[in-house]
Amino acid sequence: MQPPCSHQRTELIARRDGVDYVECLDCRQIFEAEDLESATAEKSAEEEEPA
Ligand SMILES: [Zn+2]
Repeated sequence: MQPPCSHQRTELIARRDGVDYVECLDCRQIFEAEDLESATAEKSAEEEEPA
């Protein structure tokens, strides 16, 4: 059992169509910077409403 990676250390690896792609230096996972922001800034995430 290991704790889930919180992706604290990331590096920008690519930018395409206005989307930044970052790679986690700890777990080597690649994801969009947008996803990372939504995961770390949860303060207003509950404001969303389904269309
Ligand atoms: Zn990670």
